[in-house]
Amino acid sequence: MVAKAKWFLKEAQLRIKYMTSIDCIFCKIVKREIKSPLVFENEKVVAFDDINPVADTHILIVPKKHIDSVETIGEENGKDILEMFKTSKLLVSKNKLSAYRLTFNGGKYQHVSHLHMHLLAGDKIQWNKL
Ligand code: 5GP
Ligand code: ZN
Repeated sequence: MVAKAKWFLKEAQLRIKYMTSIDCIFCKIVKREIKSPLVFENEKVVAFDDINPVADTHILIVPKKHIDSVETIGEENGKDILEMFKTSKLLVSKNKLSAYRLTFNGGKYQHVSHLHMHLLAGDKIQWNKL
């Protein structure tokens, strides 16, 4: 009973802080309800390996705040977006990537409705599967 109350409290706090959505898979990763090993985390973003990589390096950089897509980015998201790019810079350096691509999908190409940046590297990127 106490554990359940604690869970509800934590859930409520995260919902308010990051506007997380109950049925969003990336919000569940942010809340650690789905245990995806993180390659980076700070106050504003998480980064983790894509479950279905289409390149040798395929990392997803995700704002903790739930933003649906590129189309719904607003002025209030400025720091979240900046942090995504700063994280990409850090991961490029950490993984010693001499060549890489940063991709955002939208519309029918976006399968998870929580904004994310794909960091891709390697000579054989399977673009048709992204
Ligand atoms: P999109 O098509 O929306 O741009 O990309 C979504 C990406 O999220 C896909 O590349 C897909 O493989 C990845 N993905 C979906 N669900 C999960 C998950 O539960 N864990 C991880 N690590 N990646 C996921
Ligand atoms: Zn979400």
